[in-house]
Amino acid sequence: MNNNPELNPLQGHPKYQKIRDLDKGTFGFVQQAVDLTTGEQVAIKFIERSQEVSKYVEREILNHKRLIHPHIVQLKEVFLTQHHLAIAMEYAAGGNLYQLVAKSGGLPEQDARWYFQQLIFAIDYCHKMGVANRDVKLENTLLVSTARPLIKLCDFGYSKDEKFQSAPGSKVGTPAYLAPEVISATRGKTYDGKSADVWSCGVMLYVMLSAQYPFGRPEDSGLKTARQMHVMLQRILSVDYRLPPNKVVSDECKDLLRQILVAEPSERITMAEIQRHPWFVRDLPEGVAQMNSALLAQQQAAGVQ
Ligand code: ATP
Ligand code: MG
Repeated sequence: MNNNPELNPLQGHPKYQKIRDLDKGTFGFVQQAVDLTTGEQVAIKFIERSQEVSKYVEREILNHKRLIHPHIVQLKEVFLTQHHLAIAMEYAAGGNLYQLVAKSGGLPEQDARWYFQQLIFAIDYCHKMGVANRDVKLENTLLVSTARPLIKLCDFGYSKDEKFQSAPGSKVGTPAYLAPEVISATRGKTYDGKSADVWSCGVMLYVMLSAQYPFGRPEDSGLKTARQMHVMLQRILSVDYRLPPNKVVSDECKDLLRQILVAEPSERITMAEIQRHPWFVRDLPEGVAQMNSALLAQQQAAGVQ
């Protein structure tokens, strides 16, 4: 066991005991731990205490804390260690959707729909809470392994709250998932973070189906990194994608993708329209469509919002 407090921040902690390292992210690392007071397992994200990251970290905590939803990893508490700020949250044991899709080489359409439905309910709830996620991607979508795996969104590091923070204007997110208006946003120009989230959900659907990025091509791998990025961003701007020829996808599903991957945000399908689309509503479990409004009413009554 490493005694260095920079690498092992839970060393000697009265409440949490480290189980193992889970992942290393851009701003820090994530460990699996046990809450000794309850025996419950948690994931703890450690972010180095420094000035530069504080803007995003503050948003991550303020926004994430308010989001209480079956498809969002619940934030439990925030505490400080000698070198880190620690965010303790619900532990999702099934890995992330990126790993699942990479292993599968592309999910069957009905499995992709199952995850997509859950994703849309999670993002719809965030939007109704006034939070745009701005980093919707497979790696930020965790799995809980039950008979049919459930998803839980985990990362609100780039999220934006419409009530307390200015309109989104910065180019945050992950390049392959960026909407055209986010790429072309210039200084001082803002975009609708919610519509940009809709675009990223479309990219997620494409990746789930094909295990490839819609605006990347296998032949790009021969290009230099900067050139690869340039080519991909140009394809996003001109919405230049097609499904791999060997992948069989229903016309309804192609229609939904076509309505999501629209360059002009005002012409793009909305969250509410997605939830009425024929492909989306197929095999939707009973009562699920009412879940968000019931949750929001409950939370409003309890004064959570
Ligand atoms: P990145 O910049 O790579 O996205 P990040 O710093 O934004 O990382 P997160 O996305 O929140 O951090 O977490 C990184 C990874 O840690 C996740 O992809 C997942 O593998 C693991 N992880 C995070 N939270 C949890 C959790 N609650 N339960 C289980 N694993 C988790
Ligand atoms: Mg992340």
